[in-house]
Amino acid sequence: MPEETIFSKIIRQEIPADIVYQDDLVTAFRDINAQAPTHILIIPNKHIPTANDIGEEDEPILGRIFTVAAKIAKEAGIAEDGYRLIMNCNTHGGQEVYHIHLHLLGGRPLGPMLSR
Ligand code: 5GP
Repeated sequence: MPEETIFSKIIRQEIPADIVYQDDLVTAFRDINAQAPTHILIIPNKHIPTANDIGEEDEPILGRIFTVAAKIAKEAGIAEDGYRLIMNCNTHGGQEVYHIHLHLLGGRPLGPMLSR
């Protein structure tokens, strides 16, 4: 298993983070460099480095990540206007932290999906 990242320390609350949700499978916290009025990362408590490493045994975790994202969006008041969910993978995907995370972005019109 590749080395854990700073996100494992956030899960264990060993370093500060603005955690908005945590349960037995996932943790959600505000991105330190927010790209939108709401920018929250939802991550598995288990260290899964990239989307390529998601196995069938992880399907309950991935389901939880999406139900928690929808719950947080509703609580943040952005569900009706809409939001974007992104998971980057490896270098071409622009992944910086090798512990999978779903970005929840919203609170303003986000424009086209990709910049040119
Ligand atoms: P990626 O580019 O891997 O998809 O996204 C990584 C995200 O993690 C970035 O948006 C970055 O701002 C965020 N991030 C990196 N380090 C930390 C940290 O220590 N705390 C928090 N809250 N967010 C972080």
